[in-house]
Amino acid sequence: MTAVDLVVRGERVLLDGQLRPATVLVGEGRIVGIMPGRDAEAPSSAARVIDAGADVVAPGFIDVHVHFDNPAIDLAEDFHFGTANASLGGCTFVIEHPFSNPLTTTAARYEAKRKRAAERAFVDFGLWGALTAPSLNELGGQRALGALGFKAFLPDNSMNFPPATDDDLRKGLAFVAREGGFVLVHAEDRDALRTTISRERQAGRTGYGAVLASRAPEIEVQAVRHVLEIAEETGGAVHLVHLSVPESVDLVDAARARGVQASCEAMTHHLLLDSDALPELGWRALCAPPLRSRAAVEGLWQRLRDGLIDVIASDHCPYRVVDKVRADINALDGPFGIQSVREFAPLFLDEALRRGWTLPEALALVTSRPADLCGVAPRKGRIAVGADADFAILQTGGNYQVDAQQQFGPDKWSPYDGRPLGVRIDTTILRGKTLVSGGKIVVAGGDGRFLSLAPAAPVVSFEGVGD
Ligand SMILES: [Zn+2]
Repeated sequence: MTAVDLVVRGERVLLDGQLRPATVLVGEGRIVGIMPGRDAEAPSSAARVIDAGADVVAPGFIDVHVHFDNPAIDLAEDFHFGTANASLGGCTFVIEHPFSNPLTTTAARYEAKRKRAAERAFVDFGLWGALTAPSLNELGGQRALGALGFKAFLPDNSMNFPPATDDDLRKGLAFVAREGGFVLVHAEDRDALRTTISRERQAGRTGYGAVLASRAPEIEVQAVRHVLEIAEETGGAVHLVHLSVPESVDLVDAARARGVQASCEAMTHHLLLDSDALPELGWRALCAPPLRSRAAVEGLWQRLRDGLIDVIASDHCPYRVVDKVRADINALDGPFGIQSVREFAPLFLDEALRRGWTLPEALALVTSRPADLCGVAPRKGRIAVGADADFAILQTGGNYQVDAQQQFGPDKWSPYDGRPLGVRIDTTILRGKTLVSGGKIVVAGGDGRFLSLAPAAPVVSFEGVGD
């Protein structure tokens, strides 16, 4: 029997989708027992006891969509800084996309990246593979190293990541149809976008209004429709990243009804900010797909409520301020992306509560649902015997506000700076080790480990005590 070295107690522990008083026993980084009641008697071997009192004890959050380390533009964050910010936001597991320098387009680069990232990461992480022309023969190699999904980028981009053609998509989807996993798609129609962007440029329009005009909802909807058709043809599973309008989600829903294996995600910024805020927030809120109308925001919340959106993520893009401000001169060229790995989950939970959701309903979208999607359940995403002892301990109903100065790293900025926030992350625990306490990082980093997302990997082994 594993010795219990940590006990986490609380009145509101998230167990099986409900907040209940419980005492959670941890040994060697895993949950080894869960007892009803906050005061249950724990083994005397426990060296540490964390009593959360009335605070919520949730599983560590999961962010399935982050970028650390973009090429082309020098990002402020590598895995060290990025995962530090993730830990401050209650995340214990993140999955990073392949646009790093060098691009993760081969198995060898995937391997090099997972080694380099593990040296200084604060939280556990997975890596998506790449689906782009240079990587087509490398899908199996990336898969064997832990990539469950492969990212395809449809529009032209400044990251030297060749946009996926229909043929590339067909090959990738055929691969996952055979081998399992899925293709992740950034869906904006390349040809349509070329036309609308050059139309704006020729008319001398390069401001934020030109971004909204050139990247209109139809640019996304058209691409989503097309990708779903290819998925249907090939039988491969597809995951649509950062859907920004309800029409896209409806297409995913309709495709599922036809038997297409499709999932999708929404970003906090598309749920909290609308395009009216773009002129004022400027570069801080410039992303692609861009912010949408208030009606689209409300439509997304409705789809979320109806269970049609699988996960919430940040699409964290930590650009340097010196690069981002260039958008004030020419927004058509970006850089597109918002840094929010620290803020996204508290902001999403806060807004969901304001809209009358229960906390367990909201928490599922950043814990159990992403874990199920990404092949890391039951190890991540739930407080259950055998799972990693990952926790986010949070307060709700408070009177806080987003403070970008609390970010870790040199470039502190946020489109949400100063926004009232009722949720505060007090403590983050990774495999039994406290990373964040009292809202502050208390470790040096380096505890994070790479986790294979591919189902062939051993997921869980445990011996339990208690019930
Ligand atoms: Zn992204």
